Amino acid sequence: MKYCMSCQSKSVVFGKTKIKVGREFFETNAEHCSICNKVAISPKLQKQIDEWALQFTKSIIEIQPFFSKKMSSRIEFYARSFNLNKSEFMKLCTAFYLLEMTRLKNFKTLRENIFIESQKIFNGEKSKICVSIKYQLFKKITLYAEMWNLEYESNVMEEAVQFCIFILDNQSGMIEESKKIKLVNFVEYHAMAS
Ligand SMILES: [Zn+2]
Repeated sequence: MKYCMSCQSKSVVFGKTKIKVGREFFETNAEHCSICNKVAISPKLQKQIDEWALQFTKSIIEIQPFFSKKMSSRIEFYARSFNLNKSEFMKLCTAFYLLEMTRLKNFKTLRENIFIESQKIFNGEKSKICVSIKYQLFKKITLYAEMWNLEYESNVMEEAVQFCIFILDNQSGMIEESKKIKLVNFVEYHAMAS
């Protein structure tokens, strides 16, 4: 038997197994650990999971980001100005962040700086908001969470929304106006299509 990469025991077997994708389960025959159930996902298996998951027209998971009262009221304000509900607006912010902002050359520095500045402005007790998301966004969120070592998927949305609100408010002069225009266009375009 092969060693499991996750629990280090010599317990990898081939057979029927379930892979958790959001709140759904993908059932297949694959090599998996008989102790911790970890499945080593090959590119081929990932493709099968993607095809299966993309068939869901409904959301695949509900995530629960936490925001301070001050941040929540900014979310509410911008959502209304784009004629969206809060959940739709937060999903668009997250998509914009993951698709556009992470590609910036100075993303790492910008991420840190905005995080520090935002903590000062949007402090206070936090409460959660529930957001249902579909597979495509969930997958991007999961990849980002892994890459940046974030514990929960909701942390990605918290970070993305905070980043986008900071761009929209842009009181510090830290952000070029072009980023704000890009974000506004992105949200308006997708709001129109949804
Ligand atoms: Zn294991």
